[in-house]
Amino acid sequence: MAAMFLQPTSWPEALAARAAHPEATAVAGGTDVLVELNFDHLRPSALLDLSRVGELRACGRDDGHLRIGAGVTYSDVITNLAGDFPALVMAARTVGSPPIRNRGTIGGNLGSASPAGDCHPPLLAAGAQVELASAQRSRTVPIGEFFLGPKRNVLAEDELIAAVWIPAATGPQVFSKVGVRNAMVIAACSFALVLRPDERRVYTGIGSAGPVPLPAREAQQFLEGHLQEVSAWESRAPLAESVLSRFGELVAQAARPIDDVRASAAYRRRALAVLGRRALSWCWHEYQQGGA
Ligand SMILES: Cc1cc2nc3c(=O)[nH]c(=O)nc-3n(C[C@H](O)[C@H](O)[C@H](O)COP(=O)(O)OP(=O)(O)OC[C@H]3O[C@@H](n4cnc5c(N)ncnc54)[C@H](O)[C@@H]3O)c2cc1C
Repeated sequence: MAAMFLQPTSWPEALAARAAHPEATAVAGGTDVLVELNFDHLRPSALLDLSRVGELRACGRDDGHLRIGAGVTYSDVITNLAGDFPALVMAARTVGSPPIRNRGTIGGNLGSASPAGDCHPPLLAAGAQVELASAQRSRTVPIGEFFLGPKRNVLAEDELIAAVWIPAATGPQVFSKVGVRNAMVIAACSFALVLRPDERRVYTGIGSAGPVPLPAREAQQFLEGHLQEVSAWESRAPLAESVLSRFGELVAQAARPIDDVRASAAYRRRALAVLGRRALSWCWHEYQQGGA
């Protein structure tokens, strides 16, 4: 058992505890940490329980941006963020089971930095910034620079994740994932698409098909070029089958998948081509219906 159990009840207390005990393992919902403890993969000398820090559960809006506290659970996301961040809500609905969604947090998903983390593709596609804090300072890191590799991130030993910031949605968004069944499943691969008609821009995030979440940059550029060329942002005309398929192919090409217990690299690429094509088809249909 852990020798020490730290239980701050405010954010300043949490940061002070982190500064005093950099060796402590932070625990929010515990849905990853408790598994590690149970399997004896982790034997921390101290646990820093963040579940009583009310500030971490808050969501707020500031200057066109949404701030989601690190301690916000998947259930909170589903209940409160439907209009603000549809892709994250879709991802939250696919996570685990109701008990996992009631406990598991956005900050915990970032902290674990699993390549299969379901929050990561929507956060990448939305252009999220991760707010990190220590007792001395705070900083924001673009989500694309937050992950260093499987289960590794840029968090320093005296820091905690405070929140993520995202620009408010201005158009349709989609997240979808493929796994071996429909519920209680870790993604074999996943994909998020965010359309921003106000900027005439397209953003993407690929999950579980690389060491870190990846953007499909060529797919984005291809689609932005096509939409501009045929004035589709203005006309909202249907997209040709060839455009949908090409977009899917370019999404698949951007992945860096491996063979593992969940799927082969070849299957992941094939599935991503389908996810990319479908995501574009769904988003564009919503845009045609007047979604932003
Ligand atoms: C049965 C089951 C099903 C699951 N299904 C899914 C799924 O479908 N999709 C998915 O993505 N994940 C899934 N998970 C994994 C897990 O639920 C998620 O990763 C969840 O978001 C973790 O959040 P947590 O609050 O429980 O994290 P914790 O277990 O409390 O912490 C996880 C990591 O983050 C660190 N951490 C937590 N909060 C902070 C903070 N504020 N600052 C710094 N570090 C912090 C911890 O130190 C630890 O390293 C599943 C887990 C289980 C047990």
